[in-house]
Amino acid sequence: MTALLEQNTAVSSVNDLGISQAELTAIVEEYAGTNTDVKTPELVESKTLQLSENYPSSTANRAAWTHHAVNWSETDKPKIAIIIDDLGLDEEATYTFAKMTGPLTLAYLPYAEHLEAQTKLIREAGHELMVHLPMQSQRETADPGDNALLADLTFDEFSKRLEWNLSRFDNYVGINNHMGSSLTENPGLMVRVMARLKRDGHLFVDSLTTPDSVGVRAANAVNVPYAKRDVFLDNERNPDYIRGQIATLERIARKRGYAVGIGHPYPETITELKRWQETLEGKELQLVPISQIVNITNERRKIVTK
Ligand SMILES: [Zn+2]
Repeated sequence: MTALLEQNTAVSSVNDLGISQAELTAIVEEYAGTNTDVKTPELVESKTLQLSENYPSSTANRAAWTHHAVNWSETDKPKIAIIIDDLGLDEEATYTFAKMTGPLTLAYLPYAEHLEAQTKLIREAGHELMVHLPMQSQRETADPGDNALLADLTFDEFSKRLEWNLSRFDNYVGINNHMGSSLTENPGLMVRVMARLKRDGHLFVDSLTTPDSVGVRAANAVNVPYAKRDVFLDNERNPDYIRGQIATLERIARKRGYAVGIGHPYPETITELKRWQETLEGKELQLVPISQIVNITNERRKIVTK
């Protein structure tokens, strides 16, 4: 019930973005217009993904987030998705995760090298892929990296950078923000990001690097499927702290049915995740890719907005 109320609030606050419906439509059309191969962001029927019967049944032009999703397994167990951010720069970490059981969700920095090879290895290992999209931070000393989305770019440059960031590898279900405590508070620019995600049917995960992020509201306004982070696992690189954060994640999942944790490719995090994964079966919890969480939130939102 809490989750439903939460979703309801998000839906009713779309207008708080300060963007008129006409402007919103114009932005969405602007991004859709550059596309020669428009895919619907609405879900489509799929036997392997066990989507609900309510979805339109066109099999052509499947949304990227279901097309590139890892196969979902349906159980009644509370579900937890683990996203690992900042991948790509340390190629050793890719090899480590490729050997781990999953499905984990791995978010790659677009400015890293050998991304095609790294992401292929990860996808073949049964993990899900996301683009970890660099966005402007509130901290002036924090450098989000090459081609990051910044608030003072021209719209033309903003769109070019967005396109570049989304073109570095394939087979990803969507994006989450790398840094971005400044940019995710900007409704006009977040709506542009969402319009581009909508074009190919990619999902959005708000890393919530600021409590004032408008990411989810922008996703809602443009009708992009989304989820948001519940817990950062390793803000302190200390095994006790990480175990405590994982316990919090478990509590949220048991209460609400699902939870999303974000960690980083630190040795401490990898060690604790491996230990935790061995305990999952006994705890009656299920590790799922982020797409499966997004499917749950999407379904709940439909119920609320009906
Ligand atoms: Zn990051």
